[in-house]
Amino acid sequence: MRIGFGYDSHRFCEGRELVLGGVIIPHEKGLLGHSDADVLTHCVVDAILGAAKLGDIGRLFPDTDAQYKDAQSVQLLKEVMAKLDGLGYAVCNIDATIVAEKPKLAPYMQAIEESLASHMNIDISQISIKAKTQERMGFEGREEGMSCYAVCLIERKN
Ligand SMILES: [Zn+2]
Repeated sequence: MRIGFGYDSHRFCEGRELVLGGVIIPHEKGLLGHSDADVLTHCVVDAILGAAKLGDIGRLFPDTDAQYKDAQSVQLLKEVMAKLDGLGYAVCNIDATIVAEKPKLAPYMQAIEESLASHMNIDISQISIKAKTQERMGFEGREEGMSCYAVCLIERKN
């Protein structure tokens, strides 16, 4: 078994959709980024890549590469799962925490977990997504952006 850790953050901006785990969340602002800026999916991807020592999302999918402009991050997650499978590993479980003052994410958690599980081809019992505010402290607390932390456990398939 191997463990991986992921972290990501993105700045809020006007005129973009907020995408978390491939799910569009109603909010007056979205996140800024080359791709869809899906902070949760980026974080999960980095946790998986870290566990398998495959580098990081920026190295695999460089933002200088036009093919990843406005890319759906869950599609990158799918590619990373295929890489992991090719190495002979499977994901045991993912645990992630999204840090955001707003919007309230509780109503969307089930949909987010289902979306990630389906893009990863794992069972929903293997994925746990939580959300916290930052008690109005820091960039998340000032609603300048969102961040996310995730761990992933992988194991070699028999
Ligand atoms: Zn990111």
